[in-house]
Amino acid sequence: MTENSDNTHEDNTYEVVVVGGGAAGLSAALVLGRARRRTLVVDAGEPRNAPAAHMHGYLSRDGMPPAEFLAVGREETARYGVELVRDRAVEATRGTGFTVRLESGRTVHARQLVVATGLKDELPPVAGLAERFGRDVLHCPYCHGWEVRDRAFGVLAGTPMSVHQALMVSQWSKDVTLFLHEVAEELLTDDDLRRLAAAGVRTVRGEVTEVLTDDDRLTGVRLADGSVHDREVLFVAPRAVPQTGLLAALGAELTETPFGSYPVIDERGLTTVPGLWAAGNASGFAEQVINAAGRGYRAGAAINGELLFADLDAAVGV
Ligand SMILES: Cc1cc2nc3c(=O)[nH]c(=O)nc-3n(C[C@H](O)[C@H](O)[C@H](O)COP(=O)(O)OP(=O)(O)OC[C@H]3O[C@@H](n4cnc5c(N)ncnc54)[C@H](O)[C@@H]3O)c2cc1C
Repeated sequence: MTENSDNTHEDNTYEVVVVGGGAAGLSAALVLGRARRRTLVVDAGEPRNAPAAHMHGYLSRDGMPPAEFLAVGREETARYGVELVRDRAVEATRGTGFTVRLESGRTVHARQLVVATGLKDELPPVAGLAERFGRDVLHCPYCHGWEVRDRAFGVLAGTPMSVHQALMVSQWSKDVTLFLHEVAEELLTDDDLRRLAAAGVRTVRGEVTEVLTDDDRLTGVRLADGSVHDREVLFVAPRAVPQTGLLAALGAELTETPFGSYPVIDERGLTTVPGLWAAGNASGFAEQVINAAGRGYRAGAAINGELLFADLDAAVGV
């Protein structure tokens, strides 16, 4: 990452600015760099999976520490002349192209803008829970299920949709307890109850007030009535907060989903605003690292084509 500097307008003008240097942003930048596009990646350096020691499910990189994965990605993109800065985009406006103001005070300009800012996980406010996130408080069995297979699982219900999570994780352990927490039992349907029984998932009523640990391991949960339930792993469903502020400010249409509000994009990642692209978790809740990288790649390649044909059309006057 280079230091920020007060440069001239020309130095601050790029063909593409990518906001966010996670898997999605770096992947877009890699394609653009290799396509000889003057590209800047602005990254605040807080990737979503930072709490986890290992990244799983990325073919050929399974088990790699997330920080190492991104360090390799930055090194690969830099090889092709992509500039990378540690900074935060705080404002973006649209005129002839895009102008992006960074926290450092620097202002950069681009013909096309990629927003790959990810999402934030808002954890349930239970004592001791946040400290264990990514270790033995988990949200995603595909990310960590194999590593904790056959252990004593708890699932902390946030909404009736937590039934689905409890059923899913039963694929990785036959010892699963669903703590109903703030969900009234009456909200569970007969089908829910039948499926839970078929999967061998127990349900426990009552608010969970504390996650218990011993010797740096999760050992159980305490309920409001004082009862303690021994568990080794607790699955939770954080509230997803997509980082779509820049997209909204630029007028991109967003659509509400049960997992937050995401931009309307075409299959390449183009939003409803010409020249404005979204990739990774800023474009959808379900993007795992490999999907986020794929989304970034696709957007990067599409942007190169857009720029090429825009210039050719201008040259021939169509
Ligand atoms: C604990 C945990 C473990 C996980 N484990 C796995 C796993 O094993 N395998 C897997 O496939 N997936 C895993 N995931 C999901 C994974 O984190 C996401 O799929 C992935 O991070 C999405 O990549 P992204 O590039 O869209 O966003 P991110 O990786 O979150 O990158 C976004 C980047 O944009 C930056 N940014 C945000 N706003 C701005 C701004 N305004 N200006 C500049 N920069 C900005 C952020 O600081 C960040 O660096 C895990 C998630 C969590 C929470």
